Amino acid sequence: MHFGAFLIASLVALSVQAETIRVAVARGQKFQIEGGSLSIHSKTGEPAEELDSPAIFEHVGPFISSGDALDTSWIIEDADGALTVNGIVFGGAVELVLDKDTVVAIDNVDLESYVASVVGAEMSPSWPAAALEAQSVAARTYVLQRREVLRGRAPYDLESTVAAQVYKGRDSHSIETVLAADATKGQVLKYGGKLAEAYFFSKCSGKTESAKSAFGKGAPYLNPVSCETDDALAGLTWSKSISLESIARTFQIKGDISNIRVANKTETGRVASVSIESSGGTRRVTGADFRRLLGYQVVPSLAFKLSVESEQLIVEGAGSGHGVGLCQWGAYAMAKRGSSAEEILQHFYPGTTIEPLASDVVAISHP
Ligand SMILES: [Zn+2]
Repeated sequence: MHFGAFLIASLVALSVQAETIRVAVARGQKFQIEGGSLSIHSKTGEPAEELDSPAIFEHVGPFISSGDALDTSWIIEDADGALTVNGIVFGGAVELVLDKDTVVAIDNVDLESYVASVVGAEMSPSWPAAALEAQSVAARTYVLQRREVLRGRAPYDLESTVAAQVYKGRDSHSIETVLAADATKGQVLKYGGKLAEAYFFSKCSGKTESAKSAFGKGAPYLNPVSCETDDALAGLTWSKSISLESIARTFQIKGDISNIRVANKTETGRVASVSIESSGGTRRVTGADFRRLLGYQVVPSLAFKLSVESEQLIVEGAGSGHGVGLCQWGAYAMAKRGSSAEEILQHFYPGTTIEPLASDVVAISHP
């Protein structure tokens, strides 16, 4: 880039606060990276060298190997801007770094491109624009707020799984999600001048949950609100059976299980704690731990009831997700009824304001 172009790019970057998000996209011991025109360097500022595709990287002691070379981190770029990591298409640059005992691949992605991708992974692009736009603002706010929380604690800003928000790289971009990100470009939710904690989830069964009940820590804009979902479309209810043997293994119960019951409920009727009674005593597990340890696929939400039938625990419930913040199927229903993105956000995060990213969000320089 010559100087004039650099200056213009810098001015644009300053005026719109262009942000790069560092997303941990994969974790493991071995990576295969492919691209049309790959180059590699070990540190920022070092000249890049050409790299043959596919390139294999492996964790070797305190290093990551690239062919015969060893280093603690690598930056791999693709001049075509479509590099794949273990088969998934990401942007034009990925870093491999060591994080504890594994190698983490970090995608350096433009904030708006990231938002368009998350919206496509979290919602169907066929949904009404107002729902996609509300999700765009929530996703943008969420990543920037998480980055502030994680700063200095991890070599990346955010994970890419359901534990954070789902990011599948370029594969989940579509015209609709790029337009939704663009229509809300740079907009975030704030409360008291700070970035809000913009939690969201798939679907509730009539009421959202308070952050205090779900996570043990509240915020004034994360209290229960009513929510009308189109039940038939959302596929709201579910039923699962889990063997008592599997329950005993998961929760390390000694002796025979005699009963499992909901011990406490939250104010919205969701499960706060579960009691597992056995010949060895009674074990109390929080609802959140019960769901996490059995798996989010097995126990999709905390709105459930329990019964025991012939050595099986029957879990019958409704909805999916932790229940805090924006309900995606609720946003869909509101948008279908004609609500705007702003009205959807005001409903699920009451008291917050939609504001442009401002100077209090410190721009971080990334390699
Ligand atoms: Zn809902």
